[in-house]
Amino acid sequence: QGSRLFHPEDTVIKTKNSIISDSTFTLMAGPCSVDDHARTLRLAKATHAAGATVLRGGAFKPRTSPYSFQGMGETGLKYLREAADKNHMDVITEVMDPEHVPMVGKYTDIFQIGARNMQNFSLLRAVGKTRKPVMLKRGMCSTIDDLLNASEYIAAGGNHQIMLCERGIRTFDNKYTRNTLDVGAIPVLKKLTHYPVILDPSHAAGHTDIVMHEAMAGAAIGADGLMIEVHDDPKHALSDGPQALLPSQFKEVAKNAVEIHDIV
Ligand code: PEP
Ligand code: MN
Repeated sequence: QGSRLFHPEDTVIKTKNSIISDSTFTLMAGPCSVDDHARTLRLAKATHAAGATVLRGGAFKPRTSPYSFQGMGETGLKYLREAADKNHMDVITEVMDPEHVPMVGKYTDIFQIGARNMQNFSLLRAVGKTRKPVMLKRGMCSTIDDLLNASEYIAAGGNHQIMLCERGIRTFDNKYTRNTLDVGAIPVLKKLTHYPVILDPSHAAGHTDIVMHEAMAGAAIGADGLMIEVHDDPKHALSDGPQALLPSQFKEVAKNAVEIHDIV
């Protein structure tokens, strides 16, 4: 159902404050994990001022270790909703468990399916039954066809408001980058499907300076938006501090990315 062969027109996803499509460029920004009420408000304000219309933040975190911070849960969702509403933004947040879909759906405008859950078929079916937009992230060891097949599980439930997200894959050399950004996947996905394609340079690069460079590459190669982790005290962030941009850095990236996107 995602194939261009059967459906040549681009999917346009409209949320209250954003239009996500081939002809727009959407900025999603916010902390990796929601960690503090006042900070969530500050980050929403700063990222919105820099052009973001979608506030990201993890309340249910898919951590590699069960001993790492797992997220604030529903309290974090409340902080996100409040911060987004106060700043005319939409919320995107990860849902990890099919049973949580109704609860997370009470707060979020867009469901995020994380890389580690890309092939969690019961979760894909659960969001496929809703009528809320879904951003499906590419699994770190998944091929493009794996990603497309996973998206079909969502579409099969009747939910066609799907966007795909490249966030880097594992390769033989991830010493200096967290993952390898598969930049080529962006035009390939745009060619094969009618869905908007978002780049997450944060989890691809893993280091703030490289995130800033990779964001530019995404804008230049035709991504329909960027999702970037922003924190105002990265040293004390409860997850992914090393890849966070300060609000000032996000402002610079946002400005440059929009310019590049508009030229290309
Ligand atoms: C995230 O966006 O917070 C995240 C956990 O990303 P990924 O699923 O791509 O690792
Ligand atoms: Mn993260």
